[in-house]
Amino acid sequence: MIDDLPPLRDVIAEHDLQAQKSLGQNFLLDLNLTSKIARQAGDLSQFDVLEIGPGPGGLTRGLLAEGARHVVVIEKDLRCIAAVRDIQNAYPERLTILEGDALRINPVDHLEAPTKVVANLPYNVGTELLIRWLTPKHWPPFWDSMTLMFQREVAERIVAPAASKAYGRLALLTQWRAEAKIVMNLPPSVFAPPPKVSSAVVHLQALKTPRFDANAKTLEKTVAKAFNQRRKMLRSSLKGIAPDLEDKLQAAGIAPTQRAEQVSLEKFCALSRLL
Ligand code: SAM
Repeated sequence: MIDDLPPLRDVIAEHDLQAQKSLGQNFLLDLNLTSKIARQAGDLSQFDVLEIGPGPGGLTRGLLAEGARHVVVIEKDLRCIAAVRDIQNAYPERLTILEGDALRINPVDHLEAPTKVVANLPYNVGTELLIRWLTPKHWPPFWDSMTLMFQREVAERIVAPAASKAYGRLALLTQWRAEAKIVMNLPPSVFAPPPKVSSAVVHLQALKTPRFDANAKTLEKTVAKAFNQRRKMLRSSLKGIAPDLEDKLQAAGIAPTQRAEQVSLEKFCALSRLL
């Protein structure tokens, strides 16, 4: 037992937490597993932890039992908020509950640096949150590391190397400013209800400065345009982005006939410096 609180099945029954698909609710029931996920984030004792979507609180309890200095959760479902209040009572002063939509709440005011993000993200907003956290106005961001559960296919897109099938905008945006690796794989059977696909936990460590020099906005725009038509040659997919496009591609070491998926992060950065 990681704490004296009731088993998660009892919490779900008591608070009537039938999973709602529209909220991406697939709950983890095994507290040994949620503690293991919490441990993937490294030492938590000197960190505030932001968790999006605590649900019945399995991961929240894992984070607290593993010694997080303070945990801040954002949850949209009022039924889950009631369940998480019981955890707050068991860990006085160490848990802050924010009620509402994670896309609309800025958690930074509630967090003290240094901060880590650890979450089993709702699939419907997971990618959007990740992109926001990766593209803030100023770098380094509010988080030191993020340990995030995604559908396996999304996790693969985050860590994908150049020229692989999953390589694209998500890989480039992530790897430009963070070290990313898959640290756990989870089968559907560990969730209630079991989703159709497998999941994976990705650990991202923020780099102090981006891996290669580039203007963030220009890089984001170039990558988005290039992968919008990923099968096309760059001389056509990037048409109109700048005068003398072909010369600039060549100066960046990219053949104008190459496709976006064949171009490394380093070369995308070189190109964006010329645009
Ligand atoms: N952390 C729990 C676990 O691992 O068992 C639950 C994870 S479940 C995949 C996603 C959670 O995110 C649900 O509790 C859901 O209510 C919540 N959620 C969905 N959309 C949200 C949003 N926009 N803002 C905040 N929470 C949201």
